[in-house]
Amino acid sequence: MRAAVVNGFGAGFDVEEIDIEEPRGREVLVDIKASGLCHSDLHFAETNFGMEPPMVLGHEIAGVVAGIGPEVTEFSVGDHVVGSLVQFCGACVACLSGDTVRCAHPEATLRAPDEPPRLSRRGEPVLAAMGTAGFAEQALLHENQLVGIDPAVPFAEASVLGCGTITGAGAAINSAGVRPGQTVAVIGLGGVGLNVISGARLAGAARIIGIDLNDEKLELARAFGATDVVNGRDGDVVAAVQQLTDGGVDHAFEVIGRKDTALQAIAMLAVGGTASLIGIHGAGSTIELDPNDFLRWQKKVQGVYMGHANIKRDIPFYASLFLQGRLNLTDLISVEIGIDDLNEAYDQLRTGRTARSVITRF
Ligand code: NAD
Ligand code: ZN
Repeated sequence: MRAAVVNGFGAGFDVEEIDIEEPRGREVLVDIKASGLCHSDLHFAETNFGMEPPMVLGHEIAGVVAGIGPEVTEFSVGDHVVGSLVQFCGACVACLSGDTVRCAHPEATLRAPDEPPRLSRRGEPVLAAMGTAGFAEQALLHENQLVGIDPAVPFAEASVLGCGTITGAGAAINSAGVRPGQTVAVIGLGGVGLNVISGARLAGAARIIGIDLNDEKLELARAFGATDVVNGRDGDVVAAVQQLTDGGVDHAFEVIGRKDTALQAIAMLAVGGTASLIGIHGAGSTIELDPNDFLRWQKKVQGVYMGHANIKRDIPFYASLFLQGRLNLTDLISVEIGIDDLNEAYDQLRTGRTARSVITRF
């Protein structure tokens, strides 16, 4: 099958022929119909976050079940599915409590080291990164990493549910617990940040301030429910937010992965506010904080991993909201591309102009 392989950090994506195994045990073979370009895959392609080339990245996938292993109980051939990088065993205390993002044994979803690798090239192993390896014609995933989806949801929109939506909307709803009437600021309005706006709107936020450097993104943010927008190029972002909210916001979300914007998120909080850090920072990055600022103003800061999602609960929930016209997924899709356009599409993402590019031709 055709797949975009990362052969070295910073070397981009090479579309090549590679081999994929037949499903074993609880594995499901999926014909991928749409695969979204999250910014995280760009980080993982350029820097060592524990996944090493040769590897196939891609973790925002939607497709159709093409084959099932003998122990699969949840899916049948022909089902429409969404995949996610959240790996959970289903049996540890965290999983049994519904906290699947805190699973103690995520490796239970992968093949054992003595089994043949899921992906290979001329007999040599290729890493199926995150257990999804979505930049390819097909993927082989443990059934815990898949969720069945109503076929009425188009594949491109469905793919974004797998990361951008569960992370962004989940950050507002699950991680931060935004309540009706609260004020929210979102710094960085890409595929994830726009979904934070959606989550804040669903949670009933009174004021949602979108912040980016791109005027097109600010315009787009209004289509997701931003009530106010601030261009970071126009001066002091923190002062602008404080002015709009009479002193600061209850919740600020950093959705880029930069030190300066993470500090802005903390600085723009109202008394008792919470800053949620979503963007992935360069390895070894540090942020210096003034403890007295936290103490006096009772601020909180938290890291957000995958919007504290339980994918089996949250993905069907967001899909139903989309079908009811209550969740905007369509405007997230900036462009549908072919797998051969992957490098160019990531160059576009770097400019900050696209929300989500989605591969729909393999
Ligand atoms: P993206 O590239 O689509 O969006 C980033 C946005 O930030 C762009 O709109 C860009 O214009 C804007 N931006 C850049 N610099 C800015 C600045 N100084 N001030 C204001 N805006 C600025 O990225 P994405 O796919 O939405 O992902 C966002 C981040 O979230 C990435 O770091 C990604 O790796 C991370 N992420 C984290 C998780 C998690 O579980 N924590 C999950 C998914 C993605
Ligand atoms: Zn992602």
